[in-house]
Amino acid sequence: MSAGATGLAHVDGGCAAPVVVERGQRAVFCGLTGIVWLHRKIQDAFFLVVGSRTCAHLVQSAAGVMIFAEPRFATAIIEERDLAGLADAHEELDRVVTRLLERRSDIRLLFLVGSCPSEVIKLDLSRAAQRLSARFAPDVRILSYSGSGIETTFTQGEDACLASLVPTLPHDDSKQLLVVGALADVVEDQMRRHFEALGMGNVAFLPPRRARQLASVGSGTHFLLAQPFLADTARALTERGAQGIIAPFPLGAEGTTLWLEAAARAMGVDAALVRTVTGPAHDRATRALASFKPMLAGKRIFFFPDSQLEVPLARFLSRELGMVPTEIGTPFLHRQHMAPELALLPEGVRVTEGQDLESQLVRCREARPDMVVCGLGLANPLEAQGVTTKWSIELVFTPIQGYEQAGDLAELFARPLVRRTRLAV
Ligand code: SF4
Repeated sequence: MSAGATGLAHVDGGCAAPVVVERGQRAVFCGLTGIVWLHRKIQDAFFLVVGSRTCAHLVQSAAGVMIFAEPRFATAIIEERDLAGLADAHEELDRVVTRLLERRSDIRLLFLVGSCPSEVIKLDLSRAAQRLSARFAPDVRILSYSGSGIETTFTQGEDACLASLVPTLPHDDSKQLLVVGALADVVEDQMRRHFEALGMGNVAFLPPRRARQLASVGSGTHFLLAQPFLADTARALTERGAQGIIAPFPLGAEGTTLWLEAAARAMGVDAALVRTVTGPAHDRATRALASFKPMLAGKRIFFFPDSQLEVPLARFLSRELGMVPTEIGTPFLHRQHMAPELALLPEGVRVTEGQDLESQLVRCREARPDMVVCGLGLANPLEAQGVTTKWSIELVFTPIQGYEQAGDLAELFARPLVRRTRLAV
């Protein structure tokens, strides 16, 4: 256990792997970033950030230079006179939303996304969403959530977005599986095929591809998280009567099989059938991984806390590719959701929750890892010091779940090592 000059740390022994909780300076992106992948997923949704020019720049640069005839996100800029309380921000917001919806008849679902500035002026976006929903119903549903950077990480934006959808899901107590978390369409289609092959017909996904395809929820719903950062959404679903399935996440051949098996068990399908039905896909994934093993086995990897994917990634890299995690940092650790993952980590590996940046940088230097997984802010200075880095945000943007993507996921880690070797030649 260690504590930096400004940080605090204590050991939490409640899990299979001991978790060190740290508090101190952090280096993370805010939840607005989630808009980048969510707007691609829900094809008739629009994300209106109510924020500053900084927020607009962040979303634009996170999205890369994307030229759309009809973009599906924008920022309603809070000007200085709004911040000074000189203008009625609600009136202005109503004007912006009305103009947007008059111009864009394709929008079925509008998210008002809160930011640091909207929180500073205490703009009540849930009230605004209710008021505007009443005006534009039934053509457009208007919801709100916060992507503010204060005390959040970038994947929490998706959690807040999906949690805001849960109260709007229709009620239905019949038996069904709900897969929760934005997956690339190609991955979602593969998962759907696996469930169908297992005879599990009643399967829905949240978020849906279209706003009108919202899944129902009730006491017969078992939900299965596809992403590890959805604590608030899981809580909201539980409050609607649904039951959570606790499983490792579908990264790698092993993770995908364990994830499908847990779903099958909950739905009354023989878990052993999963191995029979998915055997060929599992074998293909194992073969794809084998070609990356010589490059990755024995390589030491250090995770800074950023995406909340760190623990499942470390489990996959250590068990299926022989990498050696020296520290696994994660911004938040949901003890219950992560229990099966923690149980599969190599014995004695250091898991830290939260961040005290300075002391973590010291530990990273001491560990001398072959690769560091971190946010964009840390990657450049570390690369300048000769450290090979992998951007954690890339792992959220790229389809990495499921059997067919296992090889691609391994390649994402092999690539920076290959590049570094080439540079060294
Ligand atoms: Fe906007 Fe706050 Fe995110 Fe900065 S941290 S981009 S001010 S929401």
